[in-house]
Amino acid sequence: MRATRLLLIFFGAATLFTAPAFAQQDFSKVEIKTEKLSATTYMMTGEGGNLGLSIGEDAVFVIDDQFAPLTPKINAAIAQLTKKPIKFVLNTHWHFDHTGGNENMGKAGALIVAHENVRRRMSAEGFIEFFGMKTKAEPTVALPVVTFTQDLTFHINGDEVHAYHVANAHTDGDAIVHFKNSDVIHMGDTFFNKLYPFIDTSSGGKVDGVIAAVDQVLKIAGDNTKIIPGHGPLGSKADLKAYRDMLATVSTRIKAQIEDGKKLEDVLAAKPTAEFDDVWGKGFLTPKKWVEMMYSNLKN
Ligand SMILES: [Zn+2]
Repeated sequence: MRATRLLLIFFGAATLFTAPAFAQQDFSKVEIKTEKLSATTYMMTGEGGNLGLSIGEDAVFVIDDQFAPLTPKINAAIAQLTKKPIKFVLNTHWHFDHTGGNENMGKAGALIVAHENVRRRMSAEGFIEFFGMKTKAEPTVALPVVTFTQDLTFHINGDEVHAYHVANAHTDGDAIVHFKNSDVIHMGDTFFNKLYPFIDTSSGGKVDGVIAAVDQVLKIAGDNTKIIPGHGPLGSKADLKAYRDMLATVSTRIKAQIEDGKKLEDVLAAKPTAEFDDVWGKGFLTPKKWVEMMYSNLKN
C-alpha cells in the first residue's frame, strides 16, 4: 500500500526533516488511477490523499492535489475525461500530501478554496509533532484564494456541491464535501478506510472531533452513498460505521485507562486494539504506533 511507503519514510527518518524532502522522492512509478462514481464525479488515487472530482459542462472541480511532482500525471488523467482546464481546487485540510500540487494548480489558473485555517497554516512554517516534521511557508500562489469558516456551495455540473467545516477532527481546518445530486461524499482525512487513522494533535486534531464528524456524515449518507476517504479504498456507509465503531471502542478503552492513571506502557500491554488489528492495523500506522498516538491525543 502506497500509504505504507509514505509512513515508512516518516518513521524511518532518524532526525527532523522537512516536507520539501518529499519533492525529491521518486514519483516516476506512481500511476494515477481513475474510478468513475457517477455521471459527473470521479475518485483518483496515486500517492498521497485521494482526489475527488466533478467534471461536466460547467467546470473541472478537484478536491486535493497530492504532491507537486504528480501534477503532470494528474493533469493527464483529467485530460482523458475532458479538455477543460481545472477551475477550482478545494483542499480538505492543509497537509502536504493533499496540497502539494497547489502551487502548480494555482499557477495554471485554478481558484484554490479551503477553510481559513488551511490558509493560515500553509502561510507560515509549521510542525507536525507526531512525525517530527517541519513544513515551510508556501508561496502566495499555492495558498487558498477563497476561504470560508463554516460552509459554501458550488452550483456546477448539474450538482450541488456542499463543502462544510467540521471542528477539530483530523486537524482544525477540515472540510467535508458532499456532491448532493451525485450521492458522493469526500471526507478528507476525517476518514481512513481500513487503516488506523492519523490524527494531527499538533494541528488541533482530536479523536472525539473525528467521531463527531463521522456521525454527521452517517446522518446524511444513504446505503448507496459512495464515500471517498482521505486514504484507503472507496468506502460505503457500512465501512464508515465500522470505522466509527472501531474508533469509539478503542478511544473509550484508552480514556478509561488514562482516568485510572495508567501509563502508556500499561495501555500498550492491555492491547486495546486487539480485535481490530487484522482489518485496520496492517497497512498504515502499526497498532503500537496508533495506540501511542491515541494515548497522547486523549491525554491532552
Ligand atoms: Zn492529513
